[in-house]
Amino acid sequence: MSLPIQNIIPVIHAKWFGSDETCLIDNVSIDSRSLQNNNGTLFFALVGQHHDGHQYISELIATGVQHFVVSRVPEKLSDKANFLLVNNTLEALQQFAAYYRKQFDFPIIGITGSNGKTIVKEWLNFLLSPEYNIIRSPKSYNSQVGVPLSVIGINERHNLGIFEAGISLVGEMEKLSAIIQPTLGILTNIGSAHNEGFASEEEKISEKLKLFKDAEAVILRKNVKVEALLSPSQKTFTWNYNDASADVSISKKGASVLEITQKDHRFSVEIPFHDKASEENTITCLMVLLHFGYDQKTIQERIANLYPVEMRLQVKNGNNNCTIIDDSYSSDYQSLKIALDFLEQHKTHQKKTVILSDIFQSGFPVEELYAKVFRLLTHNKIDTVIGIGESIGTYLKDYPNFKSFATTHDFLSQFNSEHFSNETILIKGARSFQFEEIVVVLEEKTHETVLEINLNAISHNLNYYKSKLKPSTKMMVMVKAFGYGSGSFEIAKLLAHHKVDYLGVAFADEGIALRNAGITMPIIVMNPENTAFSAMVAYNLEPEIYSASVLKKFIVLAQQKNLSDYPIHLKLDTGMHRLGFEGKDLDELIGLLKNNNFVSVKSIFSHLSSSDVPEFRDFTLEQIQKFDSWSSLLIKELNIAPIRHILNTSGIYSFAEHQFDMVRLGIGLYGVGNDPEEMTHLENVGTLKTIILQIKEIAVGESVGYSRKFRATVPTRTATIPIGYADGIPRSWGNEKGYVTINHQKARIVGNICMDMLMIDVTNIDCREGDTVIVFGKSPRVTELADVVGTIAYEILTSISHRVKRVFYKE
Ligand SMILES: *Cc1c(COP(=O)(O)O)cnc(C)c1O
Repeated sequence: MSLPIQNIIPVIHAKWFGSDETCLIDNVSIDSRSLQNNNGTLFFALVGQHHDGHQYISELIATGVQHFVVSRVPEKLSDKANFLLVNNTLEALQQFAAYYRKQFDFPIIGITGSNGKTIVKEWLNFLLSPEYNIIRSPKSYNSQVGVPLSVIGINERHNLGIFEAGISLVGEMEKLSAIIQPTLGILTNIGSAHNEGFASEEEKISEKLKLFKDAEAVILRKNVKVEALLSPSQKTFTWNYNDASADVSISKKGASVLEITQKDHRFSVEIPFHDKASEENTITCLMVLLHFGYDQKTIQERIANLYPVEMRLQVKNGNNNCTIIDDSYSSDYQSLKIALDFLEQHKTHQKKTVILSDIFQSGFPVEELYAKVFRLLTHNKIDTVIGIGESIGTYLKDYPNFKSFATTHDFLSQFNSEHFSNETILIKGARSFQFEEIVVVLEEKTHETVLEINLNAISHNLNYYKSKLKPSTKMMVMVKAFGYGSGSFEIAKLLAHHKVDYLGVAFADEGIALRNAGITMPIIVMNPENTAFSAMVAYNLEPEIYSASVLKKFIVLAQQKNLSDYPIHLKLDTGMHRLGFEGKDLDELIGLLKNNNFVSVKSIFSHLSSSDVPEFRDFTLEQIQKFDSWSSLLIKELNIAPIRHILNTSGIYSFAEHQFDMVRLGIGLYGVGNDPEEMTHLENVGTLKTIILQIKEIAVGESVGYSRKFRATVPTRTATIPIGYADGIPRSWGNEKGYVTINHQKARIVGNICMDMLMIDVTNIDCREGDTVIVFGKSPRVTELADVVGTIAYEILTSISHRVKRVFYKE
């Protein structure tokens, strides 16, 4: 892209506040963290309900960004950069993308539907790439923001586009349609996802079909209801099972062979999958190949090579204190840009290494492509690059610290995890290079049980609670107990980006670990121990002060260390009766703090004992009342202006009118609410996963596990999975009390849970050894497990043992 800014101004209906209208824009960004931002970047300051890109403008100017699309010109910065003032920055981004798309005239496939969009897109990319230079949506960038960003990636070398569009509300598709302007449409299927945004199923279908307004043809499964909603002049190309009225009729011959009949032409295709969803997605792709006129032999060959799609960038622990970012399934310029941004956001070490294969499918001549890759790596300050493949070795050889290998095998024969330490390593390669083998070598070995943490869900949940608050109310997030078992650095990093005001930890060492990982935001230590005071000061951690004796000791230390105005937080005990000053202690407290310059009261707070228990509503209100009056007294007597806070998660949900100046969010961030209605607004964060080790047939009368607790009364098939009470699974969940899910089906736990394993009944479940088992996640949710064993989700989450690897991902 290279566009004079003066051409962009009218396109987005902007008012110009700047000096030089002739500058060229070569890059569009909405993410302040990207190291790819530079003086040719046009930064759109998007305003979400809880996120405001305008907040980052001064930092960006400091790093050299010069051009901003804004909905208000920041007063103090108006002469420091060029501003394009618009009413709505997201609309401006969409208008810009629609304009940009019009500069290109080649076939564009637009995909929508309830499921399978991303897989179909990735498969089409694979199936069609031998003939085309394809631009496609990266990952699942299919939203109101993702679609414009995808389309802006088009360049003059591309000759086919594949973009997906996802919507959840009426009115959204029209905007995406104007941006994608597909020439060929694909409707994958219509399921029940996202129904809440629509009055009826018809409304939802009609909205989706708007994507195809100007498409020359639409591919879909034959469906009278859907076709009735298409414009009568719309050309379609339909398929269905055993249906001669469809353009293509499909019949199944065995588990993985499809017989295709199109008019008089009939042939069969073997597909490399067994499940229904993959089969339908394969058929959708096959329809595109037929539409494009591919011959039978090519279709058969290429479909046989389809592969499972892994779309997520995953963060894993590596050996020697390395962090690994696993993106070992694709390699193209667009996705490299995204992966490098992801690396920057999730790095846990200053040193950054990239292991990169040859890059395919960019449409650029190789010299030009690698020159761009070279610049990208330089901008991202990558310390070491390991190139694997013929062309990358030639064209990147002048990169500082570049190492080159012809094949993955060569690399692995000379390198092992001893060669890396204390660095963040991005592993990114095309499928054919099989970089998953590198991941296996560098990854810390633990067992197959992992707790996957969805970082998008954390952002979603944070925003849900923010939506209950006034914009001025500050937010502290509790990351104590290893982020409620979910991992602390990664979550703290994300929270820092969301400009959360405070982090709360239980003990000093948790705070020190966060500081060592580079977290600079204010951190409160809730249970400061006298022995840790000195370390707390060294690491700039702020203590909770809950008694006169703690305060006295801290003041002595502050005196010794010559501190002045060291921030402290006063805890009042208004009814929890755990820690804190009571009403009778306030006079002494005032006496100690009056005219004391060693410490400064940054905040005053209290903790609710029963904000989640409706029958104690009056008690909670009493606690709030006491807090209000005691804290007011302190404020008046000490003449201070501290932050006041009392609400935890359930408090935010049920007592938002008493939010004071700050709230302390805990369990809700991790996807658990204490109220069923509240739960409907939250996204699941943690998924505890494992695999089937072995399947056994148990004859009638035989038993399973310790003490012969399960006895088969009918022939039973069991599966053994490697997770037990040493991993934090309560033993009381065994003996048919609990269940796990396999391929979306429930399998009850049979017999006693062992230390490292448990057994489940899979008699009626289609599964094999090696299949994934969900212990908790979307289903069953961790709250169900907690209910069954008579505890709360807090206990389950924080008890998941550290031998269970935490893997972070973003969708
Ligand atoms: C843990 C904790 C919280 C958060 O509680 P949730 O119920 O998880 O929201 C808030 N304040 C204090 C003092 C805490 O210890």
